[in-house]
Amino acid sequence: MVNTPKIKISPRGAARLKSGHVWVYRSDITSDDNIPAGSLVTVVDPRGKDFGTALYSSSSQIAIRMLSHERVTDLQALLCRRISDAVAYREGLVRDTNAYRVIFSEADLIPGLIVDRYNDILSLQTLTQAIDANPIREIVISELVNRLSPASVVERVDPRVRELETLPPRVSGLVHGDKPATTFAMNGVHFYFDALEGQKTGAFLDQRENYAAAVQYARGNALDVFCYQGGFALHLAKVCDQVAGVDSSRPALEVADHNAALNRQEIEWIEGNAFDLLKDYSASNHRYDTVVLDPPAFAKSKRDLESALRGYKELNLRALKMLRPGGLLVTCSCSYHLGQADFLEMLASAALDARRTLRLVEVRGQARDHPILLNVPETAYLKCVIAHVNL
Ligand code: SAH
Repeated sequence: MVNTPKIKISPRGAARLKSGHVWVYRSDITSDDNIPAGSLVTVVDPRGKDFGTALYSSSSQIAIRMLSHERVTDLQALLCRRISDAVAYREGLVRDTNAYRVIFSEADLIPGLIVDRYNDILSLQTLTQAIDANPIREIVISELVNRLSPASVVERVDPRVRELETLPPRVSGLVHGDKPATTFAMNGVHFYFDALEGQKTGAFLDQRENYAAAVQYARGNALDVFCYQGGFALHLAKVCDQVAGVDSSRPALEVADHNAALNRQEIEWIEGNAFDLLKDYSASNHRYDTVVLDPPAFAKSKRDLESALRGYKELNLRALKMLRPGGLLVTCSCSYHLGQADFLEMLASAALDARRTLRLVEVRGQARDHPILLNVPETAYLKCVIAHVNL
């Protein structure tokens, strides 16, 4: 039995955990003397009440990520159980794809581990000191290999995150097997995945179910704004007469073009700034039957919210003006800081200004393989509204 060090938290930190959240910020830690980076810790409040076991970070603002209400003595065994639960959960609910998120950090009760499956290749990110350190990291990789038998596992490194967590620098690359590239399919649409060569490929797997939903209603002349490697556009091409995709990243569009060829589709890819292009197109009377807006997160923090809302509103206003009566708007936001209610309010205000009546067809979120923990609001971040435009 290992005796885990105790860490004391403030009444505010304790209240947060009592509400079912799993994080305690550094400002709510009252004593963490000599606790090594990435340790397993027992969390106690000022009166000594025991909240259970957490992973400790010596550098992140999120100092504590809860693992269990119980005492955890064997972290390796716990992680192996959780990996097995996460895999089983997806087996029960993921359909029509061989690409999905296998493990989503806190939402799978493994804080700091993200694993995506692209057909026979797994892509892995370790984002916390506890999960990144050996032997835990190696145990995680070998458990994933045992459970899912991938041809290879690639590690995707985000240097900025590693710096914040003071993790040793590392380069992206293969950590198991030697196959760096493959193709994968979702909803019958095929994509390239290449972990190493040139432009990194992959996909926004969280949109997978939204692609399928959009296909149910889309038609006519379609525009996919912020198309990246063609996620929506390639789906729309199954049902629309004409599809164009817009993105400012040339390398992303090059992959999008390869993806279109893989699916034997003709899509026009336009390199440009979406704000400028929508302004020009709406002024010069371009008209569409379907418009998708899937911008990057404009609100990276609460402070950005107002300017983010202005950005979202401008895009939605212009898109609405370009939509023909009876057209379809698919509009997304992946900013956690912009909640669903505020997103809908922004859209309502854009509809008013554009003099369009919008009927909500579906108000959607992230695909089910990106689970949401009800008591941890940060795990729900993606909004995707599908709306029918009337005049
Ligand atoms: N819809 C995509 C994901 C979009 S991610 C999918 O389903 O796969 C956001 C994209 O916005 C990125 O590809 C990025 O290159 C692009 N982007 C960011 N700022 C932009 C801008 N001002 N104009 C056009 N594209 C932009």
